[in-house]
Amino acid sequence: MSDAIAKTAQQAGTSAVQRCIVPACAALFAIRQPIYVCPRCGGPLEIEIPLEPLQAVADLRERWRARAASHDPRDRSGVWRYRELLPFDDDAPVVTLFEGNTPLYDAPRAAKYAGLAALRLKHQGCNPTASFKDTGMTTAVTQAKLLGARTVVCASTGNTAASLAAFAARAELQCAILLPQGQISPAKLAQSMDYGAVVCEIAGNFDDCMRLISELADVPSIYIANSVNPFRIEGQKTVAFELLEQCGWRVPDHLVVPGGNMGNSAALGKGFDEMRRLGLIDRLPKISIVQAEGSAPLAHLFAGLKSSEIAADAAFPDEIAPVANPRTLATAIKIGAPVSWKKALRAVLRTRGSIITVSEPEIADAKAIIGRDGIGCEPASATTVAGIRKLVSAGKIRADESVVAVLTGHVLKDPDYASHYHRGTLSFESLTAEGAAKSVPIVGAFRNAPEKVAASKAAILKSLESRR
Ligand SMILES: *Cc1c(COP(=O)(O)O)cnc(C)c1O
Repeated sequence: MSDAIAKTAQQAGTSAVQRCIVPACAALFAIRQPIYVCPRCGGPLEIEIPLEPLQAVADLRERWRARAASHDPRDRSGVWRYRELLPFDDDAPVVTLFEGNTPLYDAPRAAKYAGLAALRLKHQGCNPTASFKDTGMTTAVTQAKLLGARTVVCASTGNTAASLAAFAARAELQCAILLPQGQISPAKLAQSMDYGAVVCEIAGNFDDCMRLISELADVPSIYIANSVNPFRIEGQKTVAFELLEQCGWRVPDHLVVPGGNMGNSAALGKGFDEMRRLGLIDRLPKISIVQAEGSAPLAHLFAGLKSSEIAADAAFPDEIAPVANPRTLATAIKIGAPVSWKKALRAVLRTRGSIITVSEPEIADAKAIIGRDGIGCEPASATTVAGIRKLVSAGKIRADESVVAVLTGHVLKDPDYASHYHRGTLSFESLTAEGAAKSVPIVGAFRNAPEKVAASKAAILKSLESRR
């Protein structure tokens, strides 16, 4: 790095601040103040990176591209490669597993299924712990180190825990994770155990775990790494930069993401916004969020907005009605009271996107069709393709527009789901009109069950012939 460049990066690093996103408050706090929400009004915090010093840098895109060939550990990371836009000094004790650098795939079968000419899938399941959470944990755990924390803690539907446990292990910090008992995929739980975390199985649901987290937030030696934490958003926003680089800086018309706690959608919104304010792109993709029907508080709120409110950025409801008993087999988005919904809604309204729901059978078939493109994702990720199909048939996405869906986790995160789908034994719990729970089987359109074949060449050839 030349001296001039180092100075620019350092300036950006040292003068970033934390700002309350509630317009009536907008209070500012120092970047190393150990807070998670606004101490004045309780509102969500956002990191503000000073972009002016960077506007003078002519070759940012070229510099980022060149780093991909470097062996500096920070350059091997698809997050720290963009460190000019991260709120850390050049000598920060970076905790990295070489996260990011995930593939952008063409998915012709999924495109056809959704009614598009082409569809690209950004596979965040190809991160070190197999979900997009790693891109935010690298920055959050680096901040925990800087603040001198002894223990890092999170509530999780599984992937946040697995990711935090891994980064805490790298950083030699104690890690505690709070999980809703019996509601986590065994594969995700196994990861957290392997990375040495203290696994606390709580008798309650995810939202109960979140409440406990906020009670732990005042213990000085503890650092909270849930997505309410703005330092996670900073790492996750870099996915927008990496995606733009992979698109040759041609902005896709649409970006579609699943919505759970809404950190991911909020982060992508921030990332694209920063690129536009830096002048590296001249428009924003329409950001749309897809929720599972049984866990869709933000989609319900969005459906209730008047069209004038959707058009105007000013529309900003204060409250969201939580879903008391969220239901979906896509456990990563089984969240009734999303923490980052305001930031996510702002991103959708600013870019004129949509927030919609999809059903359990729609998620299951979309997941299987993504598989047919040779790409394995977990159920929550497949809401994107199911949602795109609905948006295309509703005329919100045109068949010839460029669309990128973000796959958030890897198929091996939830192998039981895939296996049950293909064997025809998948079912979900739905509510009757009277409010009673009943089990509904999912008859997948793309089932592919194993078959019993005799131990002979002829039998194998016959089996292949019958399936051609
Ligand atoms: C965490 C997670 C989500 C939801 O992301 P949010 O930021 O909470 O909206 C979706 N899919 C997978 C696989 C996840 O791990």
